[in-house]
Amino acid sequence: MSQAAATSHLRENPFELATAQLRKVGELFALDPNLIRVLSQCKKAVEVSIPVQMDDGSIEVFLGYRVTHNIARGPSKGGIRYHPDVTLDEVKALAMWMTWKCAVVNLPYGGAKGGVIVDPRSLSDGELERLTRRYASEISIIISPEMDVPAPDLGTDPRVMAWIMDTYSMHHGHSTPGVVTGKPVVIGGSRGRYEATGRGVLFITQEACKRRGIPLEGQTVAIQGFGNVGGVAARLLAQAGARIVAVSDSRGGIYKPEGLDVESLYAHRLAGGQLGEHPGADHNHITNAELLELPVDILIPAALEGQVTELNAGKVQAKMIVEAANGPVTPRADEILSARGIYVVPDIVANAGGVVVSYFEWVQDLQSFFWEESEVNTRLQRIMVNAFNEVSTLAHARSLRLREAAYVVAVQRVVDAITARGIYP
Ligand code: NAD
Repeated sequence: MSQAAATSHLRENPFELATAQLRKVGELFALDPNLIRVLSQCKKAVEVSIPVQMDDGSIEVFLGYRVTHNIARGPSKGGIRYHPDVTLDEVKALAMWMTWKCAVVNLPYGGAKGGVIVDPRSLSDGELERLTRRYASEISIIISPEMDVPAPDLGTDPRVMAWIMDTYSMHHGHSTPGVVTGKPVVIGGSRGRYEATGRGVLFITQEACKRRGIPLEGQTVAIQGFGNVGGVAARLLAQAGARIVAVSDSRGGIYKPEGLDVESLYAHRLAGGQLGEHPGADHNHITNAELLELPVDILIPAALEGQVTELNAGKVQAKMIVEAANGPVTPRADEILSARGIYVVPDIVANAGGVVVSYFEWVQDLQSFFWEESEVNTRLQRIMVNAFNEVSTLAHARSLRLREAAYVVAVQRVVDAITARGIYP
């Protein structure tokens, strides 16, 4: 995954937000307050210093984290983020959200997250590799296929995962592909992993349309972000018959009410082009803020956190929002959207496709037996559709928002696992 611009960052403390969400679910469903107290804390948080010899001979020292929130349902799983705005509280919140994401789609995993405070675009390839290998070495006592399995996140990609896998393997004297997911296919990555999150967004959008009694064909869609998730989702949704009328990247967006030529835009981006410079296109240029307020049927934020806030939630015209990014709608915006009857599919369900295929990658690595892409996609669809329907049925039965229902399903599963295992000693 490539580096996203660092303009967003969270105005509220993300860990306080995450624990407040958990307490709310606990109260709403009268869950055991003792266990909610257990789940309000992360099991383990490691801070490491990462000295790196720079190309000019100087030594820079970076700070990195790896946090495990919970392992009641299995090894912890979560990405590693390289970003200048990383904080321990952000990593802790992301680790907790990973616990819920894995639980809501019923993967046998707990949640974790890692981060290094660095702008990877400011490093040479050699510096990035040395930083990654030293970070991997520092956290190698707490990661393993059985214990904690990292993956890519903002600012990290399959190449970074390959270096982590290699460093860990060198320490142990044998190749251990199952220690990270999101690796290149040549060293044990899974077919279909790159497209998995965008493909999951397609499956969820199809199911959400079914539930709402509307056909996906012909629905107008605006997508913020045209990277791994947004670009793949745009392409697959267009292939499924939706009309993609607007897309954007960090520099702004393009809008054409009759529908954009997504294949040509995707090829242009793959060739390294900016969306705004797409040649020969008869579209209008819009800002990212304008994209969020377009008169469309479906809005898919697929870039950064905190995009729909209390300031613009009243102006959103879409009837449905599918949260492909993590945390694109703030809690206050969520209240406003709900009061306006806008149907929001929460991130822990909508973008879980990535971790589902990461799980498939781990299973394939442990068995040294690799699947066809069609098998990956069929199994992904089954898991995503089941998770959406379970959450949606609960939401309907208990008059909850989808987000509340998703949290209830997830937290209840983790609470049940802790209850079955008991508290050690
Ligand atoms: P990416 O880096 O591949 O793409 C990000 C896109 O957002 C790019 O098009 C970039 O230009 C755009 N962007 C950056 N800053 C922007 C801004 N200020 N306004 C509008 N657009 C901006 O990242 P990605 O992998 O597509 O991830 C996008 C989101 O999806 C993130 O929130 C990420 O946490 C979440 N996510 C990703 C995965 C995955 O498997 N890649 C899984 C789950 C969730």
